[in-house]
Amino acid sequence: MSLPSEVDVVIIGAGAAGLGAARTLETSGLSVVVLEARERVGGRGHTIMAAPHITFDVGCGWLHSADKNSFVQIAEQLNFEINKALPPWRERAFGKAFPQHERDEFIRALDAFYDRAEQAAKTGRDSPANAYLEPGNRWNPMIDAISTYVNGSELDRVSILDMEAYEDTNINWRLRRGYGALMAAYGASLPLAFHCNVTLIDHSGPRLRIETSRGTLTASKAIVTVPTNLIADEAIRFHPTLPDKVDAARGLPLGLADKVTLALDRPEDLPAEGNLRAATMRTEMGPYHLRPFGQPCIEGFFGGRFAQALEDAGDGAIAAHSIDEIVALLGSDFRRRLKPLAESRWAHDPFARGSYSHALPGHAGKRAVLAAPVDGRLFFAGEATSPHFFSTAHGARDSGERAAGEVMAAVARA
Ligand SMILES: Cc1cc2nc3c(=O)[nH]c(=O)nc-3n(C[C@H](O)[C@H](O)[C@H](O)COP(=O)(O)OP(=O)(O)OC[C@H]3O[C@@H](n4cnc5c(N)ncnc54)[C@H](O)[C@@H]3O)c2cc1C
Repeated sequence: MSLPSEVDVVIIGAGAAGLGAARTLETSGLSVVVLEARERVGGRGHTIMAAPHITFDVGCGWLHSADKNSFVQIAEQLNFEINKALPPWRERAFGKAFPQHERDEFIRALDAFYDRAEQAAKTGRDSPANAYLEPGNRWNPMIDAISTYVNGSELDRVSILDMEAYEDTNINWRLRRGYGALMAAYGASLPLAFHCNVTLIDHSGPRLRIETSRGTLTASKAIVTVPTNLIADEAIRFHPTLPDKVDAARGLPLGLADKVTLALDRPEDLPAEGNLRAATMRTEMGPYHLRPFGQPCIEGFFGGRFAQALEDAGDGAIAAHSIDEIVALLGSDFRRRLKPLAESRWAHDPFARGSYSHALPGHAGKRAVLAAPVDGRLFFAGEATSPHFFSTAHGARDSGERAAGEVMAAVARA
């Protein structure tokens, strides 16, 4: 759509949070526009057809805490088939690298770590989560690897209080057509302005003045949903400045998680929904999901400093590493059978600059600081503002709904 010169509410960002906010305001009677820097909705939710029959969620894929996940009902309403099969990461394994008795040992060590962390968090004192690893335990590198998938970061940079605030009901479902595709359908009816990069929010005058790459508009209220790293880097600026918001965003950096999908020739001899893991003694490794939804492909997942190193090695490095590792595990035959299709590079994505937020030790309280409205005119949403479902798509969506509610309450008070 063309950019209006003035509206009641500007929503910045058309990811899950911005869509949740805009959908909530649809019946409010307020004029709304969603300004999005990309040429698509979904933000860190993005589904592509990596090949004619291979659906790939480049960003979020799992409906985490599915029994409390607001996207489940949205999927049902929009006729998106929900796959409720168990996820591959805990119960299933393929190949000799990680036999059953070792997996049992690892799960015991992981659960014991989580128990110690839970007890420690009860004291209310914050500390880095790696302090609760059992010294010398052989599974510590792999527990740290799990943190790189869950938090996008190693445990030494993760606040124990924040980690414990996350609500995981251990029910994880998926969407055959993709999480990003669901977001696209959810946002289809909204007033969206694409290629519209917001650079400045001037809140010094009676109306907000929003500077964008497509021109300037004014608004009575704004909901800011951009990822924390953009606020921390001041890629989007405020006038007057909002040092508390910048400080909060710096305490809630996005960690890194990246994915790759490889086409698999003659897929039948690998199990559908299998899990393959190369090494169990180091943090720098990723699990491989064999034939998700039975598709002829293998997906790899990498996190933390290792994902950063792979991204920094250049385009195609994640696929090349994955093929080498799978060949080492399953045999040289696989070099011919695997073909790179697509990989993410979220740290290099200018409008994300990472994957999902975690609180640095000592910064668990920053989610509430980031979420707090300013002056009854500026409102903040996005996964990092969610008190218990941060780092997830449904946490982001719900935060948008919360911010839209705050806008309506402020309008009603005026
Ligand atoms: C690899 C990966 C795997 C993941 N897996 C899962 C999973 O399985 N389950 C799950 O629930 N979550 C998962 N997540 C996290 C989930 O995708 C995010 O938490 C969620 O999508 C964030 O939504 P958001 O609206 O807060 O932010 P975003 O989706 O980042 O939306 C913000 C929007 O703002 C736009 N924007 C940025 N700057 C500007 C600007 N200056 N002007 C205008 N627009 C701007 C961006 O382009 C973007 O569209 C994963 C993420 C990644 C990267």
